[in-house]
Amino acid sequence: EKDITDSVGEVIAEDILSDINLPPFSNSAMDGFAVKFNKNIKNWSISGEISAGNYIHSDINDLSAVHIMTGAKIPDNFDTVIPVEDTIIRENEIILNTNARYSFGMNVRKKGEDLPKNSLAIKKGTFLKPQHIALAAACGKSHIKIYDKLKYGILTTGDELVDINENPENDKIRASNLYTLIAAVKEIGQTPVNLGIVKDDRENIKEKISSSLNSDIDVLITTGGVSVGKYDYVKDIFEEIGITKKFHKVNIRPGKPVLYGTFQKKEKTVLIFALPGNPVSALVTFNLFIKDILLSGYNNSELVRINAKLSDDIDKSDSKRHFIRGELRNLSDGFIVSLVGNQSSGNLAQMSKANCLIVIEEDRINPRKGEIAECIMI
Ligand code: AMP
Ligand code: MG
Repeated sequence: EKDITDSVGEVIAEDILSDINLPPFSNSAMDGFAVKFNKNIKNWSISGEISAGNYIHSDINDLSAVHIMTGAKIPDNFDTVIPVEDTIIRENEIILNTNARYSFGMNVRKKGEDLPKNSLAIKKGTFLKPQHIALAAACGKSHIKIYDKLKYGILTTGDELVDINENPENDKIRASNLYTLIAAVKEIGQTPVNLGIVKDDRENIKEKISSSLNSDIDVLITTGGVSVGKYDYVKDIFEEIGITKKFHKVNIRPGKPVLYGTFQKKEKTVLIFALPGNPVSALVTFNLFIKDILLSGYNNSELVRINAKLSDDIDKSDSKRHFIRGELRNLSDGFIVSLVGNQSSGNLAQMSKANCLIVIEEDRINPRKGEIAECIMI
């Protein structure tokens, strides 16, 4: 259980039922005058006032109205609220404007119309956003049962990699993927475990992957070593240690060598995502294969997709699905997307300018400026 104030971004592990009717009493949706509807009556004497939270019982006949505020309880014998703006107020009397809309039941929020008592408010498995916290609070839940976060082990492979605090000499680079993926896992509300860097050495990698799979992680993400390089051992090692390969290589760019598999333990199945080492490929494949699939299991979260007009020509002549880094803007005449600089999948600075991936489908060739394309927000 977690305090409701700490529950946003968590996945709820119980159904929440409404403990009361929502709203709990019939109330006014407007500042106005409550009346008993009668289509032949167009003026009323004002017989009192009720503000929100200050109910006073009013006896009424067809000819009297009560001045009522938004959220104020409506006495049982009233059924309709005329907005202030639709009336002319004279001393102790109101007159309905000649052009005002006037119909039975208008501007009344009926008791239980939002959600009747004892009905399902929030379904188990929902990824909690502020709008769910609102409903839980209205249902009186100060504490919410939530699922343990999944543990995502993140391991990067490569002889060229050094960690963040080292100065990469000669032919080395900093292992940025490690931190990209830690951040990406946190962003989807799960727990990253930094498994560090492992060199391109068969035995080392095998030992590290085996011990990681035998720890308490639920998901293993690796980067690098799944391509066709001479030292790309990761995929072979998966086979040796008995991982069930579900797919390897997808017809996309970047990210083609991505591999997905599972490892069966007595108590659970560990999911394995082996992402390519290029920093852009790693982030793109995380979004496509981990974020999208994982979050769509939580009832309510999906990648955000927006159609936008291209402000640049795109050269694309192969039959892969491309995910191109773009900058989407919402202008007065609609969504426009431009390409960010160099599209090489090693370019970190360029990638940091992107807020979306422009999707160019397999059979689409050389889309031109002005055409529409789908963008996935990242
Ligand atoms: P690989 O998939 O192992 O062939 O690596 C492809 C490219 O990604 C190479 O240029 C690597 O140097 C680079 N790379 C691999 N791992 C990382 C990492 N953790 N951070 C940044 N770049 C990486
Ligand atoms: Mg490598």
